[in-house]
Amino acid sequence: MLAALFTLMTLPYAPEALEPVISRETIEFHYGKHLQTYVDNLNKMVAGTELEAMTLEEIVRKSEGGIFNNAGQILNHNLYFGQFSPVTADNHTPQGAILEAINRDFGSLEDFQKEFEQKGVSLFGSGWVWLSADKEGKLVITQETNANNPVTKGLRPLLTMDVWEHAYYIDYRNRRAAHLQALWQIINWEEVNRRYEDL
Ligand code: MN
Repeated sequence: MLAALFTLMTLPYAPEALEPVISRETIEFHYGKHLQTYVDNLNKMVAGTELEAMTLEEIVRKSEGGIFNNAGQILNHNLYFGQFSPVTADNHTPQGAILEAINRDFGSLEDFQKEFEQKGVSLFGSGWVWLSADKEGKLVITQETNANNPVTKGLRPLLTMDVWEHAYYIDYRNRRAAHLQALWQIINWEEVNRRYEDL
């Protein structure tokens, strides 16, 4: 019998809570089916191996092939789904240390958002655009293809947008740019700041 080693994360909001930016139907497929499949696949692949005892981040750092792809996608989606709050929440403006770092490293919040969206739009194929911090706390934006995560570059991931088509095709069809622009309305900057200050 297989032990349930990794589990589907719990969403910090109801499945319809991110509407109209992300529909309940997209959550049901993206979280309920795509992410669940990555969890099920990884559990089958690591059962009985030394990877069972590792954290997701350790597996992502040490593995390749199918194990890397499924572990990477779980890590990526845990950070993604964990960074949102409903449109009506009052945490959609960055404050504190993360705001200071954005102003320092990108000039302004507007310049940061413009560059972040542009890197999401211009990523060819499936992948993720990330805001991360390096070891000195400097912020960087990176494009990662497929299941890649900035931890493999020694960076600490803070914020991400998923540009796999499964993230937006139900609600936005081919309009990736419109989807990315809309996501700012549901970013929980308190959570992003917490990740940044968690040095
Ligand atoms: Mn996804």
